[in-house]
Amino acid sequence: MTVSIWQAEDTQPVREVDLLIVGAGLVGCAAAYFAAQAGRQVMITDTRDVGLGASSRNAGFMITGLDTYYHRAIERYGHDAVRELWGLSARSHAYWRDFAKHGDVRMRETGSMLLAESADEARDLEQAARAMQADGIDVEYVEGDPLGRGYLAAINQAHDAAVQPYELARAVLAASGATLVPNNELYALWPDGPGVMALTRQFRFRARHVLLCVNAYSAQIDSYFADKIIPTRAQCLVTEPLKQPPVLNTCGYSDYGFMYYRDTFDGRLLIGGGRKQNKPLEHDTTDDRVTAPVQAILDAYLRERFPDVVAPVARRWAGIMAFTPDGLPIVGTLPHLPQVGFCVACNGHGLAMGAASAERAVDHLLTGADPGVISARRLE
Ligand SMILES: Cc1cc2nc3c(=O)[nH]c(=O)nc-3n(C[C@H](O)[C@H](O)[C@H](O)COP(=O)(O)OP(=O)(O)OC[C@H]3O[C@@H](n4cnc5c(N)ncnc54)[C@H](O)[C@@H]3O)c2cc1C
Repeated sequence: MTVSIWQAEDTQPVREVDLLIVGAGLVGCAAAYFAAQAGRQVMITDTRDVGLGASSRNAGFMITGLDTYYHRAIERYGHDAVRELWGLSARSHAYWRDFAKHGDVRMRETGSMLLAESADEARDLEQAARAMQADGIDVEYVEGDPLGRGYLAAINQAHDAAVQPYELARAVLAASGATLVPNNELYALWPDGPGVMALTRQFRFRARHVLLCVNAYSAQIDSYFADKIIPTRAQCLVTEPLKQPPVLNTCGYSDYGFMYYRDTFDGRLLIGGGRKQNKPLEHDTTDDRVTAPVQAILDAYLRERFPDVVAPVARRWAGIMAFTPDGLPIVGTLPHLPQVGFCVACNGHGLAMGAASAERAVDHLLTGADPGVISARRLE
C-alpha cells in the first residue's frame, strides 16, 4: 500500500506504546494475549476492525495438522519437523478451546473427516493414517464411504472441531485485554532510537517492539516478504437453513484439502474450495471478491455430492490467505529492523497453527527464543 503526502503529512499525534501488534486477526489477537501474559502493555492496530480479514471469512474447521497429508508431510519436511508441526497444531487447538470456553464462542466437537475423491487419494489416506498411528496420533482409517456420498475412503480425526471463527477472534481479543485501534492502517515503520516508529493513519506510535500479524498483506508493509508470501484467495458458499437435519455432522475435507464442507450452527450447508482448477486466477491477489469459475465449481459440488440438499444458496464470499513457498508459517524479526517481529502465513490453516505460532513469535521477539520449524530463517 502506498500513501500519498495528502493522506499522511506525518503530523499525527505521537503515542508511546510498549508492544504494538499490527493486525487484529486470530494470530494478532492470540499474540496480544501471550504478550500480555508475559507482562507487556499491548496495543493492536488494524486497517479494519477485529477479525475482518481471513479470520472471519474461513470455514471454521479446527483440523489438526497441515494441508499436506501426514506421510507426504514427512517426505517434504522430515519426520522430526512433522512431529513438531502436529504438536503446534494440537497446542493451538488447546488454546482455541480455552478461549472459546471462556468467551461464549460457538464450537462443536464434530471431529473431522479427510475424504478420498479418487483411488489415489484413498491410498494416500491409508498411508497417512498408518503413519499417524505409528506416531501415536489417534485417528481411524475407514475403508469405503462413511458419508454415503460417493467418497472412496476416509480418515476420521475424532478430536477436531467446528467453530464460529469471528466469535473466536473477538473472544481472543477480549481475553488479551489489549486495546485495539480500528480503522487505523499501518503505513510505514522506521528505527527510532532503541525502538521503532510506526506511522499509522491516526497516530505515530513510538514502540519498544512491533509485531506484524498482517498475513496476506505483509508484502505491502515490507519488501522482505515479497518473495515469501503469496496472497491467495479462497471462496465459500452457504445455503439457506436446511429443512432436513444436519447432513454431515463433521468437517469434511477432500481432494487433498481443495474441497471442504460442514454444517453451520444454524443448520445450513457450507461448501468451500474450487481453487485447484483456477490457480492463476486465485493466486497472487489480495482482491477478496468472488469469481464465477470458482463459484461454478462450488455449485456443481453442491449438486453432485449433496443432491438431497435443495435449499438455495444464501451467500457467497471470499477471503485472502497467505501461503509461503514451502507451505509453513513464518516467524522471525525483520533483518533490517530487529525490533519488528512477525508471525504470518498459516497457509490456509490458521485454526490449526495460529495460536501456537503466535506464542512462538512473541517469545522470539521478546526473549530471542528459537521459533523452531516455523523460523523464517529457512527462507532467507
Ligand atoms: C475462505 C477461507 C476458508 C478458510 N478455512 C479455514 C479453515 O476452515 N480452517 C483453518 O484453519 N483456516 C482456514 N482458513 C485460513 C484462516 O482463515 C487463516 O489462516 C487465519 O484467519 C489467518 O489469521 P491471521 O490473523 O494471520 O490473518 P487475518 O485474519 O487475515 O488478519 C490479518 C489482519 O491484518 C490487518 N491488516 C493488514 N494490513 C494491515 C496494515 N497495513 N495495517 C493494519 N492492519 C492491517 C487486516 O485488516 C486483518 O485484520 C481459511 C481462509 C479463507 C479465506
